[in-house]
Amino acid sequence: MAATPETVRKFIALGADFAVESGAGDSAAFSDDAFREAGASIGDAEAVVKDADIVIAIRAPELARLEGTRPGAMVAALFDPFQRRELVAAYASAGLEALSMEFMPRITRAQSMDVLSSQSNLAGYKAVIAAADTFGRAFPMMMTAAGTVQAARLFVMGVGVAGLQAIATGRRLGAQVSATDVRSATREQIESLGAKAVFVEDVAGIEGEGSGGYATEMSDEYKAAQAKLVSEHIAKQDIVITTALIPGRAAPRLITDQQIASMKPGSVIFDLAVVQGGNVEGSIADEVVERHGVTIMGFANTPAHLAADASALFARNHFNFLSAFWDEEAGRPVLDEEIGDAIRLTRGGEVVNDRLEGAA
Ligand code: NAD
Repeated sequence: MAATPETVRKFIALGADFAVESGAGDSAAFSDDAFREAGASIGDAEAVVKDADIVIAIRAPELARLEGTRPGAMVAALFDPFQRRELVAAYASAGLEALSMEFMPRITRAQSMDVLSSQSNLAGYKAVIAAADTFGRAFPMMMTAAGTVQAARLFVMGVGVAGLQAIATGRRLGAQVSATDVRSATREQIESLGAKAVFVEDVAGIEGEGSGGYATEMSDEYKAAQAKLVSEHIAKQDIVITTALIPGRAAPRLITDQQIASMKPGSVIFDLAVVQGGNVEGSIADEVVERHGVTIMGFANTPAHLAADASALFARNHFNFLSAFWDEEAGRPVLDEEIGDAIRLTRGGEVVNDRLEGAA
């Protein structure tokens, strides 16, 4: 849900009229009445977009659902712009201003507007909880009268926002945690959370944070060294959480079927990159796959498994973004260049984003 009663109140305080599609908040436990009490009008999809200057959504709606918006209306949502180029082109043709929340720049002042961070944080937590629930053993070491239960070994691959939260969650549950990434800046972050950093030592990875905090595709030499390292390490792990992503590309393949076969039966792998092609050979979104006695799982939409928190944070990201640029006279946001140019996909009938060169 892209708004909550809390953010509806705040938008209204800015001077906006707010309309919510009936039933839109059901899965996140926000009723139509709660939105009505906050001051929103409630209607069907057609009624709420009629004459709208701004539409906010989690995922960008198909164009057919936006008939009746004002010419030049802004639509702020997740567009999945690299995969859904036809949708982007359709927004351009319709004269809409598409604002892709996943293109929010990774700069300090945009942190509170960044849905990828807020949702990845929840996803990293949920991945560990779901894996722990599936794992047939406990996470913490327990010394009992009947004997000792060994601590589970948890390995996190990809230490961005989701990976850091996965490490922290694993540690809180009492697992012995190790983690790896291609960006050298993550080593210190892993260690500061009390986990062991497992890094390719003989081939250079990405210096520091990488470009804007993003990784790139690695060289064949690096991939081979990483595969060797993973093969040695993974056989001793009980739980593996993979989170590795490269913007605009399929997720890198980090775990092969052969490596899965080397793991102990009963181990669990949670692939957070499953929708982007998967870090793990054989992972299927929303399915629990058994390979060589190892359970491989991954949700198509992990934050949706924490719907209330996911909505609350997503809604605040939307509000923080739009309110930061609110222009009272215009009665709508007027974006600055740094953020506007980064996230704007279409305007004035054209695809205008550099990252989508050749999309129209
Ligand atoms: P992401 O979702 O793009 O990728 C997840 C992780 O996978 C990254 O750490 C990446 O380096 C890693 N990865 C990619 N290929 C890999 C491979 N082959 N092997 C192992 N690991 C691989 O990343 P993210 O969660 O969005 O965060 C990346 C960085 O950006 C973090 O340092 C984060 O703090 C920073 N960030 C800053 C802001 C901000 O300042 N507004 C917002 C978001 C993220």
